[in-house]
This record gives sequence, C-alpha cells and structure tokens, in this order.
Amino acid sequence: MNTAHSLAPSQVSNKARVLLPGARLGLLGGGQLGRMTALAARAMGYRIWTLDPQPDCPCAQVADHQLQASFADDAAARELARACDVVAYEFENVDLRLAQTIEQHGYLPQGSHLLAVTQQRLREKHAVAAAGVPVTAFRAVRTRRDLAAALAELGLPCVLKTTRGGYDGKGQWLLRSTADAARVPDAVFHGDAAVEPAGESDTALEAPLVAEAFVPFVAEVSVVVARTAQGDVVSFPPAENVHQDGILRFSIVPARLPQEVLRRAQKAAERVAVALDAVGLLAVEMFVTADGRVWFNELAPRPHNSGHYTQDACSTSQFEQFVRALCGLRLASPRLLSPVVMANILGEHLPAVMRHLPAWPGDAKLHLYGKAEAKPGRKMGHVNVLAPRLEEALELLRTLQVWGPLDLPAPRLSS
Ligand code: AMP
Repeated sequence: MNTAHSLAPSQVSNKARVLLPGARLGLLGGGQLGRMTALAARAMGYRIWTLDPQPDCPCAQVADHQLQASFADDAAARELARACDVVAYEFENVDLRLAQTIEQHGYLPQGSHLLAVTQQRLREKHAVAAAGVPVTAFRAVRTRRDLAAALAELGLPCVLKTTRGGYDGKGQWLLRSTADAARVPDAVFHGDAAVEPAGESDTALEAPLVAEAFVPFVAEVSVVVARTAQGDVVSFPPAENVHQDGILRFSIVPARLPQEVLRRAQKAAERVAVALDAVGLLAVEMFVTADGRVWFNELAPRPHNSGHYTQDACSTSQFEQFVRALCGLRLASPRLLSPVVMANILGEHLPAVMRHLPAWPGDAKLHLYGKAEAKPGRKMGHVNVLAPRLEEALELLRTLQVWGPLDLPAPRLSS
C-alpha cells in the first residue's frame, strides 16, 4: 500500500518521510506502550498492525491486526515491514537482526543503530559520555577477577548490572561488601556467549556485566525527548521519579527541584538524543546528587513509563508526539497544563483499585492495559492524579486508598 505522501528525494534523506493519516503504522511489540501509541495514532486516523507472540496482547486489543509471531521470526518481520508504511519498536529488547530486516524491507525511522546502542549498557554509557553528559565511573566485567578489580577501583557500594536484557531492576546487584560480590551467581559471568555483536568491531564493549560506582542521589529524574528524522528536537518537562525494588512507582511533575537543575537535565537529555541521532522518542533517566549535579543512568528509545503523566497533564502526550515524530509531522510544543502525580498500578494494587474505583474523583485518570493476569510487580495500568497544586495532587493520591500511607518527601539539595 502507498498512502505515504513522500517529499521529493532531493529534499530529504531516505529517513525523513511524511506519512499522512490513513497510513499503516506497524508496532514491533504489543505491550502497554504499543497499546497507548496505537490509541494515540488511531485518534489521528492511522491504521495499526502489531507483531507480538502473545495472543490478545495489550496492543492487539486496539490494533487492526496482530501478527502473532516471536520477536525472532524473520518472515513475520518481513511481512510487517512490507504491509506497513512505517514501523516502530516499542521495547528495546527485540532481536537486532529483526530490526535490521525491517530496515531493509520497510521504513524504520528509529533505525537499528539506536537499538544496538540502547540494548547494551556499555555501549550506551560510552555513547552518552561521548556526548558530554556526566556518567558515573563504570567498568566492563567478564569474570570474577574483573569484578574484584572493578570493586577495588570503584569502591563500595557498587552496582553490578547485566549489560543486556535487564528491566525494572532485574539483572542488578547492589554490592555493599565483597561478601555480596561472592553471592552473585556464577551463571551471569558467562552470559556473553549469547551476546549478539552489534555490527561494530569494538569487542572491548562486549561483556556480560558492567559494574558502576554507586551514585548517592537525592532524586531521580527523567526527560522524554522527541526528535524527527529532520533533526527537530522537543523535550517534555522532567519528571521526578520514585522507585521501589527497581520498579517505578510514582512520577511527580513539576519535579520538586530547582529550575536550574531541571534545565540541566533537559539539556543533557536533548544533547544525548542529538548525539545518538535518535528518531522518535528517547527517554533519558538521570540521578541528581545533593550538589545539584545531574548524572546519566539509562536510556530507552521509545515512550517511557515516566512519561505517562503527559497523557492527562500536557497539551500533547508522549504517544501523540511519538506518532508525530515517526510520521514526519511537525512536533508539538507540549505545555504542562496541570501539576500531576502518576502512580503505577501493579498486580498487587489491582484489587484495591477495583474496590475503590467507583468512588474515585474525576481528576484521578485511570489507564488500564488489558492484561489478563495480575501478577505481583506486573504493570497493569497507571493513574494520573491532577490538581491545581502539586501538594493537592499528592493528597488526592492518598485518598485513592491503593498505595498505603504515602511518604514522598521532596528531594533536599545541599545548598
Ligand atoms: P536501572 O535499571 O539502571 O534504572 O536501575 C534501577 C534502579 O536502581 C535505579 O532507578 C536506582 O534507584 C538504582 N540504581 C541503579 N544504578 C545505580 C547507581 N549507579 N547508583 C545508585 N543507585 C542506582
């Protein structure tokens, strides 16, 4: 099909195409991020296909068609590429070869290069440091001996992470002592047999683990940046994020930090998006230390949980902005319309949500992802709580009776 309205090839690179409504957007990955992207795209008149192995996955419930196939199924990837005018990945752990197949047979504006960088922590840290954004000291770790050397150099505590495949705090060990280091399972040190080289020859970056110096942060923030293939860049207001057990629990906006710190975070995030030649969305997670400095933590080349607040609190959501960037439309300049607290609904929260929902006020905006099974720690949905003042939004969140007695003290900087 060809509903794309293409600009003259001499005017733009092959990366920059304009896809008008009616065009078909293919989503590689059918989880909640795909679902919310599809809902935004549908509102604008686009048609949606999704590729995901799970029948009736969150995105398939709102898409025109699902290709039910594994993320390593090359034939299905080719079919998605050929059938769709534009394809996007909604999570970064898709097989790199699959993304390359789509790039060859169709139009993948995010590109496979961004995926290759963001699915491997060592590559990611090198790329961000090269962009001039502060990154905490880190060492590649292949063996137990490497780990001992890294601990000696970086000091304790130290955070050991798998370079690939980790999410929501999985594949991470906070090491407070050498005894903690000894408890790291043997198997993770030999993980690099399965590592896919990312196409470049830099084997120094191919290790199963990375050890990083602990950052004594007072706050965690994230910025979602949108960038078009033409190079236009727009970022959303930074979110102040609260994690527990490695899982994002709450995002608070406006973040309760000095303007200067927020500007620094936003600039750092935009600089990374430009340096990586990111197209679509790039979420940049950062730590803030007591002296007001901002340190890089990690990237996601897609919509991000910490950007869900934009759905109800901004003039344009991250999902609409994603669609705009992918389809070559002009990026919106998102304005924050209301203070907001986003709270994640995990499997263990769902019964209380269902019990109290009928009495929730209208300013508690519910989003559920349509997942059949509610397991503890599984992200089932979120709520955006709006109020004229942030303290009122936090108070309103307490009255929803889902997250227990909430203690969310504002971050304290040293000066
Ligand atoms: P990540 O998956 O890298 O975002 O890590 C999950 C959570 O672990 C972060 O949100 C932090 O709360 C914590 N964490 C990760 N890396 C570090 C670090 N280098 N220093 C301190 N805390 C960290």
